[in-house]
Amino acid sequence: MLKDQDRIFTNIYGMHDRSLAGAKARGHWDGTADIIKKGRDWIIDQMKASGLRGRGGAGFPTGLKWSFMPKESDGRPAYLVVNADESEPGTCKDREIMRHDPHTLIEGCLIASFAMNANACYIYIRGEYIREREALQAAIDAAYDDGLLGKNAAGSGWDFDLYLSHGAGAYICGEETALLESLEGKKGMPRMKPPFPAGAGLYGCPTTVNNVESIAVVPTILRRGPEWFAGFGRPNNAGTKLFAISGHVNNPCVVEEAMSISFEELIERHCGGIRGGWSNLKAVIPGGSSVPLLPGKIMKDEAIMDFDWLREQKSGLGTAAVIVMDNDTDIIKAIWRLSAFYKHESCGQCTPCREGTGWMMRVMDRLVKGNAEPEEIDMLLDVTKQVEGHTICALGDAAAWPIQGLIRHFRDEIEDRIKHKRAGRSSAVAAE
Ligand code: SF4
Repeated sequence: MLKDQDRIFTNIYGMHDRSLAGAKARGHWDGTADIIKKGRDWIIDQMKASGLRGRGGAGFPTGLKWSFMPKESDGRPAYLVVNADESEPGTCKDREIMRHDPHTLIEGCLIASFAMNANACYIYIRGEYIREREALQAAIDAAYDDGLLGKNAAGSGWDFDLYLSHGAGAYICGEETALLESLEGKKGMPRMKPPFPAGAGLYGCPTTVNNVESIAVVPTILRRGPEWFAGFGRPNNAGTKLFAISGHVNNPCVVEEAMSISFEELIERHCGGIRGGWSNLKAVIPGGSSVPLLPGKIMKDEAIMDFDWLREQKSGLGTAAVIVMDNDTDIIKAIWRLSAFYKHESCGQCTPCREGTGWMMRVMDRLVKGNAEPEEIDMLLDVTKQVEGHTICALGDAAAWPIQGLIRHFRDEIEDRIKHKRAGRSSAVAAE
């Protein structure tokens, strides 16, 4: 289990003083100028050595991403944009950072921006996060008053401004290029890539978009050293990680743990076990609503909670939002609900997503009721494959994968429901 002295987020539950003075007392903003004075290359090398992979879902190495930014400006400014949109169902970790431990993020913004030659950073926060915005803005104001932001930020010699921008509540604005469009005041519609944001991002300038947690862990990594961070988790899956566990556990929670912890240990130590005991566990969505579910038995006996193990199982760590479902769950209906969500959130720009999400949702709707032909299961699977990888952004994949997971692991249940419906045994069919 992760020891208290190894926690990066020391106030994630808001039990301590979240003011600037409280943050400083817990070790934040300690030697920030000294870190910056070591220079860009040193910071990026340290981040690469730490093995940090992006915490927003894709798991791309953070140090490497930063190194894509131009070393010399061609006259255009560079920007860091922090993705605080956090709209993936089940995901609720960044909000805890922003409302209870905001100085981890603010200090991270300064250091990361310096490393990428950016004098300005924008944090784009989810529309529904009103209280989080207020807490974060208050922390930003306090940092300005203390000289930690603005001209010669924290005495580092680097001028730096940090802006908080409030979204309007569209899920798609969590996609990095849609986020940039929204930040520019336009409709939040994803852009075609290339060009990638490091070449032409916000206002056509070099931009890096990083998740809140990815940036908030930076100062502690640089203070304690990359070897310390890389010491947690299996190779290629380094570090500590915030897990957000919801659903049918006894104590749902957000908790910082070492990467590669087993699922069983995570649930037993922090969530008080599965509701009704382990034999009552049906399925788990291990990384936010867009990753395919895995059956409870595999999760209990084998699961290692990291990027590589979950990918080998054809699922993913995603945002580490762990959604636990027990035997009371109508698993077909649960996945139908996600299909309805993705259909609603599709921006409509590309045909496979615009048409496919609605089509998949309507078939799922009939599968919930058992009102389908057995051949339609394969037809649905085929359509998910036609949507997957054929769209501008990853929302198409996100809509396809939960259904693929359902068919991969619970095909019997879908077929049984169709059979029972035909036999008139309505008790076996979900309530409509
Ligand atoms: Fe819009 Fe969907 Fe295409 Fe993404 S995949 S750009 S959400 S239509």
